[in-house]
Amino acid sequence: MKSLADWQELAAGLRTETGLVIDGNCVPASDGRTLAVINPANGTIVAEAACGGEADIDRAVASAKAAWDLGSWRHMVPRERMAIMRRWADLVEAHSEELALLETLSMGKPISDALSIDLPEVVVTIRYFGEAIDKLAGLATTSAHDAVHTVTHEPLGVVGAISPWNYPLLMAAWKIAPALAAGNCVVLKPSELAPFGPIRLAQLFLEAGGPAGVFNVVNGTGIEAGQALALHPGVAKISFTGSTAVGKQLMIYAGQSNMKRVALETGGKSPQIFMPDLPDLDRAAEYAVRGIFDNAGQVCNAGSRLLVHETIHDEFVAAFTRKAAELYAPGDPLDPATTLGPLVSRGQQTKVLQWIERGIGEGAVLEFGGMADPARADGAYVLPTLFRRVAPAMAIGREEVFGPVATLLTFASEEEAIRLANDSIYGLAASVWTADLARAHRMVKALEAGVVWVNCFGDGDMTQPFGGFKQSGNTRDKSLESLAGYMQSKSSWISLT
Ligand code: NAD
Repeated sequence: MKSLADWQELAAGLRTETGLVIDGNCVPASDGRTLAVINPANGTIVAEAACGGEADIDRAVASAKAAWDLGSWRHMVPRERMAIMRRWADLVEAHSEELALLETLSMGKPISDALSIDLPEVVVTIRYFGEAIDKLAGLATTSAHDAVHTVTHEPLGVVGAISPWNYPLLMAAWKIAPALAAGNCVVLKPSELAPFGPIRLAQLFLEAGGPAGVFNVVNGTGIEAGQALALHPGVAKISFTGSTAVGKQLMIYAGQSNMKRVALETGGKSPQIFMPDLPDLDRAAEYAVRGIFDNAGQVCNAGSRLLVHETIHDEFVAAFTRKAAELYAPGDPLDPATTLGPLVSRGQQTKVLQWIERGIGEGAVLEFGGMADPARADGAYVLPTLFRRVAPAMAIGREEVFGPVATLLTFASEEEAIRLANDSIYGLAASVWTADLARAHRMVKALEAGVVWVNCFGDGDMTQPFGGFKQSGNTRDKSLESLAGYMQSKSSWISLT
């Protein structure tokens, strides 16, 4: 296992591709613009990335459309496409350390998380969708004797993917892998805060034998490159992960352009509910802590609302506080022992600290944390934070903070827990801790969320559809349901008379 010194040495010698990936080549932006990617752990520049605009999106969409028209990918024999996806996954696995380092330097994620969570999940995502390619089948329906009716599924064309910075590779892979497996061509606009991993992902696809133009990457700002992609008439679908506000904007762009499909995975304020009969308080507290402090709270399904039965409030707060101190101490993200890195940027740190001020102003009780890390002023760190006595109307308990900030509300009955949990514009995920099987099932049915965990939080695998109810989105990533979203059905009714 590598030490901090090993990773520092690798980081110092890092040379990575910084261009746009268009038509199989790495190229600068048409107007030569670049954007510095900043390491949030210390404010230094990781590298200057090419910063594409409308002209580059046009070039990338034209290249994807040409590959589509040529059929170089969608008409390839399925098992050949599968072999390329398999080689691609193997290459990503072989380059895990390099890719993990790019994630850590760009957005501050602890290197051990990037290596043990993000990269293995990226590999499994590519393998899962690659394996599915020749398992897809249409159907012949039971129709009139003088006709044959078949329903087949076809790819959509050029898919535009817009991804965030919190899991730069994984969130991109959740879109790119099913879109490609379905036979589409793709233009990815990664987050401008962390574009290097996604750029390497596209290079490795080419190295695996992926045809030129099938997977393009145009880094750039949201308002330029992102908007140009979302407005582009040559794009059949936009697949997005990011904020609810931008998600709403993408629906407008679709209406203003070609009515493209818009698949959204947006924000959340996920409740973790702790009933008085929960089986193991220590285990529950550990999951609760991980549910909000992993990735420094920058997780769309972060369990940021702790709903705790009033009779176990004191023991719960004590266990949660103990576990948080045990598991999450800020550190250099290149140190393999670090579990809590900085936030993605100074801007995000300022936003989170403003939310904390607002929580204090609203009268919530600050149990611990609540400030930047005084020992690490060079980085965008915020200490793990817990607010108690949060009232349902307080903004700190309703709005997505996207940082290591937990809010605790109490309840007196199962009905009240469900009411509080569902009293949100979001509905991405929820969890329930109880030893009562009937109660668990009742609550799973009652909770308005796309994913409900019982006696755990965040567990799952690729078979699990991931996405939200309400303003948490309108789509599902992972699972075969996601693959279906990158295809459209065609009915062919053949008269035999
Ligand atoms: P964002 O929604 O602004 O950005 C996500 C992606 O959309 C980025 O690639 C960005 O460049 C692009 N984008 C921004 N404006 C665009 C536009 N007008 N048209 C097209 N694309 C555009 O999110 P962010 O700035 O990265 O973070 C802001 C907030 O979003 C966070 O504080 C958090 O609340 C939320 N967020 C959620 C997730 C999630 O996984 N659900 C991930 C990241 C951020």
